[in-house]
Amino acid sequence: MCCPGPFEVKIDRISVYQVDLPLTEPYWLSGGRLRFDVLDATLVRLDTDEGITGWGEGTPWGHTYVPAHGPGIRAGIETMADTILGCDPRQLDMLEHKMDLCLPGHGYAKAPIDLACWDITGQAVGLPIADLLGGRYDSGTWIASSISSGDPSYMLERILQYRETGYRVHSVKIGANVEKDIERVRFLEEHRLDEERYLYDVNRAWTRREAMLVMNSLAEQHITVEQPGESLEDLAAIRRQTSLPISIDESLVSLQDGVRVVRDCIAEVFNIKINRVGGLTRARRLRDLALDHGIQMYIMATGGSVLADTEAAHLAQSIPDAFRLGTWACQDMLSRDIAPGQGVRSREGKLYVDKPPGHGVVPDEEQLGTPVAVYSL
Ligand code: MG
Repeated sequence: MCCPGPFEVKIDRISVYQVDLPLTEPYWLSGGRLRFDVLDATLVRLDTDEGITGWGEGTPWGHTYVPAHGPGIRAGIETMADTILGCDPRQLDMLEHKMDLCLPGHGYAKAPIDLACWDITGQAVGLPIADLLGGRYDSGTWIASSISSGDPSYMLERILQYRETGYRVHSVKIGANVEKDIERVRFLEEHRLDEERYLYDVNRAWTRREAMLVMNSLAEQHITVEQPGESLEDLAAIRRQTSLPISIDESLVSLQDGVRVVRDCIAEVFNIKINRVGGLTRARRLRDLALDHGIQMYIMATGGSVLADTEAAHLAQSIPDAFRLGTWACQDMLSRDIAPGQGVRSREGKLYVDKPPGHGVVPDEEQLGTPVAVYSL
């Protein structure tokens, strides 16, 4: 009996859209270092010769958060377009290798391509991305709110607003100065419900000395501190001189970073931001490293629309409950919805992925307007 060979799929068109995603209110990151009102989003549509279309998103959290910016994504895709066209989108590792040869680094520019390829792969085999990643746990993922820095009473007020809508996990931005941060944490911990979890996110704002002073002053608290220093070296130094659990976020970029964190016991939690690490293909390896070393995880996009949230939610829901600490719903901070009624939406403070093939989100192309670039075979 003759068996047909696997059919071929080729990417034959790349359409790149730029969209402004306004925030509902201006956002201050830790220590008032960053303030922005709008996100610069890049939406990528990949078409194939088999008629399957996939979508991916790249939306940096402003251009001063980590080394990534909106125009850089679009420039990176332009550089890689000839390499991407003609590739089979289901051969995800091979495509990653080809993109790396064409443009070393710049993972944030590759992420939307990789994500669109996962979408196509899911559609090609009729499975949601979470299933492609190994299986989908049904329990949903707690959304971590993003509580902007401010006076303790202002921060508590924001937490109470989220609490009303079912949120139980909060990423609380600190990092102003030693006394103020100690005051904030003590105040908020006094008002924390037993079933709530607060992640105190410094976003790199402390020096090593400040981290030591704050974290050692709060050593009796059952709290976790995220990214309490600028670099991986700083985190390693802070780890040696403090005892509170550390979550690594901005300094977790490559698999080599992850291996070092595990080997040197630098952090107990990974915050895997899919776009920062270069897409789902790379994020999956960090997930597996964490699972193998007793490290819990937050899984997030760097920001963006419901599409970005949905992409992250699929990876999150492939993680066993005990290791899955939370995700983020940046969509709740935006005044624009590019895919109304689609994708993951907050249900009592949690996100649940459905069972569509791929990620199941198709942006409203009328809202996206004309592509800023189209590349085709
Ligand atoms: Mg963080």
